[in-house]
Amino acid sequence: MMREWENNVRKVVPYTPGEQPQDQRVIKLNTNENPYPPSPGFLQAAREWAGEELRLYPDPSAKVLVDAIAAYHGLQPEQVFVGVGSDDVLAMSFLTFFNSSKPILFPDITYSFYDVWAELFRIPYERPRLAEDFSIVPKDYFGENGGVIFPNPNAPTGMDMGLDMVEEILEHNRDVVVIVDEAYVDFGAESALPLIEKYENLLVVRTFSKSRSLAGLRIGYAMGSPVLIKYLNDVKFSFNSYTMDQPTICLGAKALEDEEYFQETLRKIINTREWAEKELRALGFESADSKANFIFATHKDHPAEKIYGLLRQSGIYVRYFDKDRIREHLRISVGTQEEMETLIRFLQENLSSI
Ligand code: PMP
Repeated sequence: MMREWENNVRKVVPYTPGEQPQDQRVIKLNTNENPYPPSPGFLQAAREWAGEELRLYPDPSAKVLVDAIAAYHGLQPEQVFVGVGSDDVLAMSFLTFFNSSKPILFPDITYSFYDVWAELFRIPYERPRLAEDFSIVPKDYFGENGGVIFPNPNAPTGMDMGLDMVEEILEHNRDVVVIVDEAYVDFGAESALPLIEKYENLLVVRTFSKSRSLAGLRIGYAMGSPVLIKYLNDVKFSFNSYTMDQPTICLGAKALEDEEYFQETLRKIINTREWAEKELRALGFESADSKANFIFATHKDHPAEKIYGLLRQSGIYVRYFDKDRIREHLRISVGTQEEMETLIRFLQENLSSI
């Protein structure tokens, strides 16, 4: 029975994040974290963090971090918005920009937080179907809508879209905000960042969680025209002025300094990804070429759920989505070369028993 007051509760089906097992021995390939530590410069600064400043509220404008991100990308600080992970930035963006009575558009197979935010904020939405090969079909986004969002590369497919196709979508969407979620762009896709100078209605969202090995710190950011960023800040400051804590603001700025380490980490992950894709294909898996730090693979003979269960029992965690069109796929984050060799060896020895 529903109690009377429950009629007025905002009811939502929450997003389910991947598991975070406490057992350190698990080979964790389920939440697209970076298997390598944050940069040595960042770790040094974190060790030296004194803590006395925590008596004070953090800088609500997060200036040190905003300035560092702007300088890194050759932008003005007025073109940068920061938040507690890109989830926070994306949620704020939904709240700020998607207020039309027309539906917003995002692919049927994509980051599964988008429909959760749309439901939470009561934004109507439609999900154009990816092509059979899981690529995004740009013309599906040309019709009237209340806004557009897609990741590039897409998740969980790992497939990228060329900049020409991204621009085609922008060309057909001059009157709504278009958000490109570039959580994984550093692993090999082309960024839409240069287009923010040309399209005032384009917001490019990035994160420190994947390529910068800082999922635990929680930093995400958006880049766009000063007018878009101002609207975002107005909503953010109407919600909570102090979303980012002071250590994160200061240490986050440090994380952008060590370019050589950053590039070397990316190179290692990309090399391991390409090696693992080849090995998985030799074992009968099929996958599109990934441009992210994960591989989205299906096996022609063995059910994905069974493989997932067997791996899990053996302490290797990958992600399985019990959802239409993708329940025969596994999303496997790219770990260290050693971790991926363990995974491949395990599959070589056990796949036939499934
Ligand atoms: N966008 C996409 C496509 C993602 O896969 C993720 C990771 N779950 C995020 C955004 C959010 O990442 P974070 O909040 O750690 O920046």
